[in-house]
Amino acid sequence: MGIELAMRPYRRRFAQPLHTAHGPWGWREGLLIRLRDSQGRLGYGEVAPIPWFGSETVAEALAFCRAQGEEWRCEEIPDALPATQFGLESAQADLAGQIAGQEPAIPADSFANAAICGLLPAGETALAVAPQRLAQGHRTLKWKIGVGSIADEIHWLDQLVVDLPSDARLRLDANGGLNLAQAEQWLTVCDRINANPHLAAVEYLEQPLPPDQLAAMTALRERYQTAIALDESVATVVQLETCWQRGWRGVFVVKPAIAGSPQQLKAFCQKHQPRLVFSSAFETAIGRRAALAIAARCSPSPAPALGFGTQGWFADDWDTLTPAELWDRL
Ligand SMILES: [Mg+2]
Repeated sequence: MGIELAMRPYRRRFAQPLHTAHGPWGWREGLLIRLRDSQGRLGYGEVAPIPWFGSETVAEALAFCRAQGEEWRCEEIPDALPATQFGLESAQADLAGQIAGQEPAIPADSFANAAICGLLPAGETALAVAPQRLAQGHRTLKWKIGVGSIADEIHWLDQLVVDLPSDARLRLDANGGLNLAQAEQWLTVCDRINANPHLAAVEYLEQPLPPDQLAAMTALRERYQTAIALDESVATVVQLETCWQRGWRGVFVVKPAIAGSPQQLKAFCQKHQPRLVFSSAFETAIGRRAALAIAARCSPSPAPALGFGTQGWFADDWDTLTPAELWDRL
């Protein structure tokens, strides 16, 4: 027997369902993977797909893993299964001692939070929550836009950048939900805010237009000072490569857990040195530490805040468990 492969599906409930472009997201489903070598060493990995971001389903990941039998022979994993590529490759890396092991997940504290982007709720509630996020140590905050009326949201943004300290930064995420005129309106406002040093800055506008409008977003980059980031456009390494080839030189938001092969992601980063911002896919601590290990290797310098402000969003205590404890819990 070479390397033994075992997997355990999981389901965990969000404390509050997440609002997504595809409706409420109440339960996070995924798959934990454990590799064991002939000397009894263990390596953990996680398959945490987001199907509406173009990933495979948990059932497809499970079918691929089951088809391997009980032995892992380092088969090539198809590009159609990006979350499975991440899960199995990171389990192999863990087995090889390349991802630190047994310690519990880092508790949320203000020191760690300075490097992590805090999440604000959509709408006017952001104004009330922003001081709490600052008190937790966050200096970069993310706010979803395109949820309410544009006039209201711009009004609240104008208030937010006054309320926040001038060294704080905001990321505005439209999830591809704006039209061109709205994107222009937002970027005009962002440029006006960013020209005033007394206000908090808008770090970037994230995915203003749908993924099929890359050329329009590239043209917007040339007309406005405020940076634009792609997220939905670049769910996988294959899509990162495609957008790079088509000339995108703005920010790329990357969720390692659904991006595909960590090796290919690292190769892309080394070759092109793109402006990457790493983000969580609401994975467990097992996927999180593998994703953070990639972020530590591939982030530009100075590293932008990590989009990993996702702990404490579930109605369970899993974030406090070691990988082995979590595995035993399932
Ligand atoms: Mg986004």
